[in-house]
Amino acid sequence: MMDFINRIFPSINSAYQVFISILDILIVAGLIYAILVIVKNNSKTLRILKGAVIVVFIDIIASYMQLRALQSITQNLISWGFLVFIIIFQPEIRVFLEKIGRTTMNQYTLASLNIKEEEIDEITKAVIDMSKTKTGALITFERNVSLKDYIDSGVKLDSKISTELLLTIFKKNTALHDGAIIIQEDQIACASTYFPPPSIDVLQSFGSRHRAAIGISEITDSITVVVSEETGAIRIVEAGKAHFIYQNEFKEKLIQYLTSHDDTYVEEVGDLDE
Ligand code: ATP
Ligand code: MG
Repeated sequence: MMDFINRIFPSINSAYQVFISILDILIVAGLIYAILVIVKNNSKTLRILKGAVIVVFIDIIASYMQLRALQSITQNLISWGFLVFIIIFQPEIRVFLEKIGRTTMNQYTLASLNIKEEEIDEITKAVIDMSKTKTGALITFERNVSLKDYIDSGVKLDSKISTELLLTIFKKNTALHDGAIIIQEDQIACASTYFPPPSIDVLQSFGSRHRAAIGISEITDSITVVVSEETGAIRIVEAGKAHFIYQNEFKEKLIQYLTSHDDTYVEEVGDLDE
């Protein structure tokens, strides 16, 4: 019996080792793939990666040719590189960690967002009207991640949502029509607030309004409705992506995006689903 176990164990042991090695390789391959996908879609990361490769290359040459002074510089760059990486990619890392930390508790419903269907109807009427009259608009819905900083830097409103108020806010040449409004639960929290530009490459044809929408969607889980002043086109922007929306499907799509579990990856950012 002992003999049998002894004979079987080494093979179980080595099978286990093989399994662990395969698992190890798969995890590393997955990580490299994720990094490459992010790099591919983002010229910022591409430039940084090129820089990093050049530094490592110089370091190898310096070490080979025993260029001590040069190598002390490249070694320092490499050891500080990690810190620099964290600072540069702070927004992306934050979004990534938030996604990992998120579980089913973020399965939104209109009720959990504390907004009623009647209010969605009011917004829908205003958006379709503004699309027809080519009135530029930027409407951002707060979800789990607080937009307080942006609300504070805008013009405080805290008003009930109505079609008339929305149309008045975005009416051209009025004091509040520039910038974005933020919907917080069932209220228009503020108007005239400004969002940061995206960190990713977006379509050249996107002007500053659409860029602002993509920018805020990258760093928060907010949902933004954009109406183009140039074309009247309606887009819903979430997780770095701008989706073209037809007038007749707007309400349904808005509810769908508002209640969607935000599990999309930053890798698809900047795409235009049209
Ligand atoms: P449109 O299709 O409506 O022309 P666009 O994407 O081409 O949109 P612009 O033409 O540059 O964008 O729109 C300018 C308007 O966008 C500004 O008047 C302002 O209301 C809004 N805007 C610009 N920058 C920001 C920002 N950072 N945050 C919020 N709103 C902004
Ligand atoms: Mg424009």
